[in-house]
This record gives sequence, structure tokens and C-alpha cells, in this order.
Amino acid sequence: MKRIAIIGGGIAGLSAAWSLEKARRCGLALEYRLYEAAGRLGGVISSETIDGCVVEGGPDSFLTEKPAAAQLCRELGIADQLLGSNDAERRTYIVVKNRLIPLPDGLMFMVPTRLLPTAFTRLFSWSTKLRMARELLFPPEPGTEDESVAAMTRRHFGQETVDRLVSPLLSGVYGGDASQLSVRAVLPRMVEMEQQHRSLCRAMLAARKAPAPPSASPRKPGSRRSLFTTLRDGMGQMVDGIAAQLQPGSIHLSTPVHSIARTKPDERRARLHLPDEEGWLIETAFGQERFDGIILALPAWASAGLLRAIDGPLAEALAGVPYSSSITVTMGFNREELRDLPPGFGYLVPASEGRRMLACTFVHAKFAGRTPADRGVLRCFLGGSGNDELLDETDSRLTEIVLKELGEILGLHAKPTFVRICRSRQAMAQYAVGHLERMQLVRDSVATLPGLALAGNAFSGIGVPDCIRTGQEAAETLLRTLENEAAPAAVSEAAS
Ligand SMILES: Cc1cc2nc3c(=O)[nH]c(=O)nc-3n(C[C@H](O)[C@H](O)[C@H](O)COP(=O)(O)OP(=O)(O)OC[C@H]3O[C@@H](n4cnc5c(N)ncnc54)[C@H](O)[C@@H]3O)c2cc1C
Repeated sequence: MKRIAIIGGGIAGLSAAWSLEKARRCGLALEYRLYEAAGRLGGVISSETIDGCVVEGGPDSFLTEKPAAAQLCRELGIADQLLGSNDAERRTYIVVKNRLIPLPDGLMFMVPTRLLPTAFTRLFSWSTKLRMARELLFPPEPGTEDESVAAMTRRHFGQETVDRLVSPLLSGVYGGDASQLSVRAVLPRMVEMEQQHRSLCRAMLAARKAPAPPSASPRKPGSRRSLFTTLRDGMGQMVDGIAAQLQPGSIHLSTPVHSIARTKPDERRARLHLPDEEGWLIETAFGQERFDGIILALPAWASAGLLRAIDGPLAEALAGVPYSSSITVTMGFNREELRDLPPGFGYLVPASEGRRMLACTFVHAKFAGRTPADRGVLRCFLGGSGNDELLDETDSRLTEIVLKELGEILGLHAKPTFVRICRSRQAMAQYAVGHLERMQLVRDSVATLPGLALAGNAFSGIGVPDCIRTGQEAAETLLRTLENEAAPAAVSEAAS
């Protein structure tokens, strides 16, 4: 019987556990244990229903084009709960001098692909618009080294595009700072396009003309896939769905792992051809336990803490991944009070506006059925890179800040029917310039530690589907290393 420990019960650790459970059901002699420091599963995913409104403390949805999350829901038998975003209403605004300016149609992240909406938008000055037109004919030299997203944007479209578009998009999505984030790690497609076409506008126009690649799940002609997908009662349904499928007794809540150690192979036992005792020891408040393999599904800084005594350079590489914190302040209102809200999913606030709020989602508009018809919900984001001091503010002070800014930006002065505040400390990995090289170093070090696998949002994407994928890959890696000693057919079947 092989034993695997998973440390961390966020979506990455849970996905790893589900992959191991599938292997076990296929006949693999396997036992797994999941250790979670908190008293509940899900990590930053936390959904609840207040006054009939679905309130998300962490992620509210995932990108539909990344298949891992929807596929997981299908495996868990909850595909009927998947819900696409209300894209007919999709419109995002940028706050400029307290006014909401819609993002022009045809923007592909920072790249304009349609002439008229770009020419007439109030988001950019005429000099930026001219610069965008010039990029098509006289693009800059492609970059030769990794650089920040802000630096690449500035080379192509100028500083105003950084300030009004790219920075707010990245601080809204990543809680990140465009002047720090690596373009190669965060926007690899843009780098490829620049290498191929030099002009990003030209590259996007070519991509739009190219025939779509064959889809893994063909859609009916004329049907459009929503940009975002969620679950009817919240993202927590995915967490509950996995938990319900795991082996009884495999989950240990409120059990932080304090340390891990490797157990060395015993030469004497090897000489006697006795089973090898090489493996891993984990220590919790309840004592030590031995495992053949271990999956660290933790923020990189937490994995670094556990690995420091085992592999110093690996721990250092992990500790060097910066993390940002975020705060969501969700407020319920009588729908009548929100009648003057513009149509759309919400707005982003550039740093140059000097506000504490980074973004606001109009929850009742983004997904149908999230609130009763007579209610509306606004979800406001604060925090992000360099704003950690806000985490120590009291709930009433955060409520005050948000209400003041909603009043100034939206002219909303109604009293909320409820307020829910959720702080996610050091939860969002930031892929800083040089991230890809750092990750290569991490992979090389992990390869020298048999029985160890890492998962989570520090590695190859911070979204929920990426974390699910890293959890699955970590489980598959460990299953492969056990392959020679267990039923190979079961491993291959489970991993597929
Ligand atoms: C506010 C917010 C909004 C977001 N919005 C979106 C979104 O809309 N769409 C999207 O795709 N992504 C979104 N993300 C990103 C995404 O949700 C996260 O990247 C992802 O959920 C992280 O999952 P994880 O399992 O890697 O880590 P976590 O969820 O951080 O889980 C790690 C777990 O490890 C536990 N742990 C730590 N140390 C120990 C220890 N020593 N022993 C045992 N357990 C330990 C922690 O308690 C935690 O439960 C958002 C993130 C945040 C914070």
C-alpha cells in the first residue's frame, strides 16, 4: 500500500486528492491523506448565501476557455450546475476622473483591433490613438529579454495605455503591478505575436482572420460560449463536490503541517532485499506520519518554509515568488437603489485616480440568478500589490471607505442591506520579471527529490483552472513514480 500526503486543502490540493481517489477506485493500492491548516476546505474559495444572494469571498468564476474546471465539474457530476456569464450585458468601464468610460469594443487585452471604437473612445487621448495607428505601420523592435508588462505596452502603445488600461486590468485580475509582472509569464501569446509580426495590432488582425482551431468540445453553429463560467450556488460547490467524493477519513482539517523531512533509504534493508523505507515524514500537532510521496499544494512562501531544511536553494527560489493580498467587500442593496447603475459587469480603477478601490463587479448583472430579482450585489476589491496596510483596517472602516468611493464614482448613497468582508492574505502569486527562469530552477530541484510534487498558483497560472491542473499534474507525477511498484494499468488509466 503506497501512501501520499497532500498538504493544503485549497482547490489545487483538492484536485490532487481527487486524481488520487480516481486512481484508488481503479484498483491502485493507495492511501492518501489531505492536511489543511484551516477549519474548512477550499482555501481562498469561499461561497455563502446571504438574503438569497450568492456571495463569493474569493474567486467568483473561471475562464471558460481553460477546460480543467468544467471538466472537473463533469467528473464530479455537477456539470448541470455550471452557469455562463451573461455576456449580452458584458461591458467593463474604466474610471477616469470619477466618470465611467467603457472599454472600447475590439480591444484584445491591450491591443486595439477595431478602428472606429478606438478612434471614438474617450479612454485615450488623440496622441495615444495616433500611437496605436502608428504601431501597425512602424512597430518597435521586438524585446530580446523578459520585461514587465508595462514596459512592453509602453514600447508599443505608450504610457497612457499602461495607466488607463493595462495597470487597472492587471490589478483587477492579478492584484498585481504591471511594472513588476513578467510579460513572458503573464502574456506569453503577446510575446509570440511580437516575435512573429513585430506589430501587435497586425498580429491580432491576422489571428482574427485565421480559421478557428478545431475545438475539443464542438459547439452548435451560432452558439457563443460565455467568457466566464461559475456554479449556480457559488464556486464552493466545486469544493464540496470533491470533498463528497474523497475516501472517508482522508481529510484532516485544522491540522497545519509544521515540518517535513525525508527518510533516507536504509542500505542494510536494501542488501537484504527488504522493501525500501525511503519516503517522507510529516509532523503535525498529532505527531509524525510516514508517506511514500508528498504534494505541497500551498502558496510558494509556505512551501518554502517547509522545504528550507531539505533543499535551501529550492526554498529560496520559492520564497522569491512575491504574493499580494486582497480584500473583497461585498454589499447587498435593494435593486431599486441601483437603478442608475450603467449596464455592464462593473469597473476598474486606475491607480492614477488615487482611490483605495481597485475594481467593482455588478454581481447581479454578471451572472443570472445570483440574487433575487429585487436585490443587487456590488463586489468591491481593495488591496493588491503594495497596499497591505488595508488588511489591518477594521470592517467598519473598510465599509466606510467603500461606501464613500461608491458614492463618488457611481453616485450611490443607499445603505447596504448586508456587508460581507473577506481578507485573503498573501494569496495571489505575482509572476515577476524572471518568473520562468525561477520556475525552471524549481523544476530542476524538485526533480532531484523523488516523491515530492508541488501544486498551486505560483507556477503556471493563478486562475482556478490552472490550480486544478497543477494539482492533477502533481498527483499524476507521483503516481508515475510509484508506477513500477504498483499496478501499472491502473495508474495509466487513472492518469488519463
Ligand atoms: C479575492 C480573490 C479573487 C480571485 N478571483 C478569481 C477568479 O474570479 N477566477 C479565477 O480563476 N481565479 C481567481 N482567483 C485566484 C484563485 O482563486 C487562486 O489562485 C486559487 O484558488 C488558489 O488555490 P490554491 O489551492 O493554489 O491555494 P489556496 O486557496 O491559497 O489554498 C492553500 C491552502 O493551504 C493551506 N495551508 C497553508 N499552509 C499550510 C500548512 N502548513 N499545513 C496545512 N495547510 C496549509 C491554507 O490554509 C489554504 O487552505 C482569486 C483569488 C483571490 C484571492
